[in-house]
Amino acid sequence: MSRTIKNIKKTALVCGAGGFIGSHLVKKLKKEGFWVLGVDLKKPEYGRSEADKFIVGDLRDQMFVKKVFNQRFDEVYQLAADMGGAGYIFTGDNDANIMHNSSLINLNVLQNAQESKAGKIFYSSSACIYPAYNQLDPKNPKLFEESAYPAAPDSEYGWEKIFSERLYLAYHKNFGLKVRIARFHNIFGPEGTWTGGKEKAPAAMCRKVAQVKDGGIIEMWGDGKQTRSFLYIDECLEGVRRLMNSNFTGPVNIGSEEMVSINQLAEMVMEIAGKKLKIKHISGPQGVRGRKSDNRLIKKKLGWKPTSSLRDGLEKTYVWINEQVHKTSK
Ligand code: NAD
Repeated sequence: MSRTIKNIKKTALVCGAGGFIGSHLVKKLKKEGFWVLGVDLKKPEYGRSEADKFIVGDLRDQMFVKKVFNQRFDEVYQLAADMGGAGYIFTGDNDANIMHNSSLINLNVLQNAQESKAGKIFYSSSACIYPAYNQLDPKNPKLFEESAYPAAPDSEYGWEKIFSERLYLAYHKNFGLKVRIARFHNIFGPEGTWTGGKEKAPAAMCRKVAQVKDGGIIEMWGDGKQTRSFLYIDECLEGVRRLMNSNFTGPVNIGSEEMVSINQLAEMVMEIAGKKLKIKHISGPQGVRGRKSDNRLIKKKLGWKPTSSLRDGLEKTYVWINEQVHKTSK
């Protein structure tokens, strides 16, 4: 791209552009006319990045991050993190890596955003910051934004996220950096991790159902009575862009209010697939008993909240995962 065009267009940096949400965000920013630089340890797994430029590199490395910020960006999106599903986050085996890696990324990106006078910076926090004591009742979890304190996340992943929220807020307070913070609640959709241990419940369920013949058995961690809400990727990105365009710093929930048990999630996927399967409950990491987004604040501040149904998003996701399963089994 010529310098002239790049200079007219708004510029965005997407950290974590090789990941699930980051690669979809790059597509959205491109559609909106941004010039986009994507950075990640790896390129997107499924399809080419649509970023104008993509740098493969490690955001834990101070010198590398300095080079990334040798231009000024109108908007920075910080999505890079050492993360995964329950099998990665809740076993405890990866805690030191999760805390070390994600903190370093945030420290480096934020400092360079401030020094290079970036226009605005978005930070992706998580529902995992909410106290475990408010998520014991599967029917009545409390996840309104202010309930984050006194802090008591149930994972070190959540503790790193809440530390980093505060880091972003401190840069806003002390340096006037324009910061936007969202707490994502279980985002899912096509082109997300669906196998290998880092996949989340909707993708894992779609994979299991796609892999088994009608009448077969699938395994599920726990009794399946734990509840969650899941948000389709397009709605998540709509929320992110609206937050960036608003004057509200956050933190604010970006999630769905449609709460289902994991058993109900499995039933929904089976219906979509047209299969009747038996569920075998086995022991495994499950996280909190109940979790669902509380969307009162986003509605109040942005005049908008996600509304698409879980079923609609799952249909699109199942089609894609079913394709992946049968591609790899050929
Ligand atoms: P993802 O794992 O698909 O993407 C994260 C990306 O960060 C990966 O591509 C990874 O390679 C990259 N990364 C990790 N360490 C890096 C490093 N040292 N240098 C450069 N890149 C590095 O995850 P996602 O689902 O796209 O999530 C994006 C963000 O949203 C994360 O910060 C995550 O914690 C947050 N979040 C996601 C969800 C969800 O449901 N997906 C929920 C809550 C919060």
